[in-house]
Amino acid sequence: MNLFRQIPKVDKLLKNKNLQDIPENVLIYSIHSVLDELREKIKNSQIDKIDEEKIINNIVKKADDILSPSLINVINATGVTIHTNLGRSLIDEEIFNAAKKVSTHYCNLEYDLNKGKRGDRYHHSAKHLSFLFNCEDALIVNNNAAAVFLILNTFAKEREVVVSRGELVEIGGSFRVPEVMKASGAKLVEIGTTNKTKLKDYEESINENTAMLMKVHKSNYTIEGFTEEVYIDEIIKLSRKYNLLDYYDLGSAYIPKLPYGLSNTEPSINDIMKLSPSLVSFSGDKLFGGVQAGIIIGKKELINKLKKNQILRMFRVDKITLSLIQATTLAYIKKEYEKIPTLKQIFTSIDTLKQKAKKILSLTPSLRANIKESKTYVGGGTMPNKEIPTVVIEIEGNALSWERKFREKLVIGRIENDRFVLDMRTIQDDEIEKLASIINELISCEVKK
Ligand SMILES: *Cc1c(COP(=O)(O)O)cnc(C)c1O
Repeated sequence: MNLFRQIPKVDKLLKNKNLQDIPENVLIYSIHSVLDELREKIKNSQIDKIDEEKIINNIVKKADDILSPSLINVINATGVTIHTNLGRSLIDEEIFNAAKKVSTHYCNLEYDLNKGKRGDRYHHSAKHLSFLFNCEDALIVNNNAAAVFLILNTFAKEREVVVSRGELVEIGGSFRVPEVMKASGAKLVEIGTTNKTKLKDYEESINENTAMLMKVHKSNYTIEGFTEEVYIDEIIKLSRKYNLLDYYDLGSAYIPKLPYGLSNTEPSINDIMKLSPSLVSFSGDKLFGGVQAGIIIGKKELINKLKKNQILRMFRVDKITLSLIQATTLAYIKKEYEKIPTLKQIFTSIDTLKQKAKKILSLTPSLRANIKESKTYVGGGTMPNKEIPTVVIEIEGNALSWERKFREKLVIGRIENDRFVLDMRTIQDDEIEKLASIINELISCEVKK
């Protein structure tokens, strides 16, 4: 018998009572897609009869798949706090609620309450950021990549920008300093060598077309051995001597002194601001731990020029971002560092991490695993190559197989010395019970096999 002829008609399926909850366009797509698969199977002689109930079930499954959100939560058990692939910095719930209130009701985003007329959306963030960083003014754009572009385009279009060859960074997501520079219309002047750049290299490159001396943070690599670089204080001094702008693309900014010697080799943003630089920019998340944004701080006169650039309109941030940055900045001003999840994770002690691991093991008595001390990284293009101590649960058995099984349950861990490990540093307290029940479920599947 010809199976093709027995395939249910689309019209009939559309009227099936079990499919009436599915939005029409999704239903039509799902039906066609399931019937296409069915025809393929008939062609390849993979089935010998048409099962209408199964077809209906497959349509429901297909529609469910389309209608379920794609952006969902995972448990980060990698130990990498600022994990670029897993959402970078987390937002504290209280801080998020402040933004929620501002965004679910009308607000004075661009309204001057004193004058009763149009106001400036940027002054909200500038007020607190200027206080926090002791600077004249501040501006927020969509991300730090936009900040770099805006600054170069505003001050160095068709002019020269001097950058050390050791700092021609590429960061994840294909942000490359030379290419951003080109797109902005600025002309890159590379100086020094990969390992050594001296002050005299900067000085010798200056001519009447030079607009700016730029320093770029080596976010995801270190240069070690026979090396020399010029620090921002000297770059600022030299810029002043020649009446040029100095600009530091800092990438990531931290405020309080960090543990494990993380802050020994890199100056904090406040140390840099004491030097009164022309302009500095960094990400609103990364170590600052707010939300995706580019924060530009520095001289008022320069920030005013940035505000007059038409391109700013394309990098404009929404009230959600502005209120999240505002709440984060206020937390910093009040030294409420526990409200910055990124900092909270980095500061968590080994003892607390061990307790977390013990708690998980106590909830998963059949798990064959050991608690171990290990090392991890902060991540996200900050503090490159600097290890920090951590505690992991090391699971016995095939690492690759566990990695896949946990990933299917939306738990992302890492493999270390041929063992699958769950790193305690990035597992949040309110995820412990859920993680334990996932582990128990995975073990019971193992036992059944
Ligand atoms: C991360 C980084 C950027 C890009 O910042 P985003 O906020 O990701 O756009 C630019 N420059 C440096 C040095 C960085 O580390």
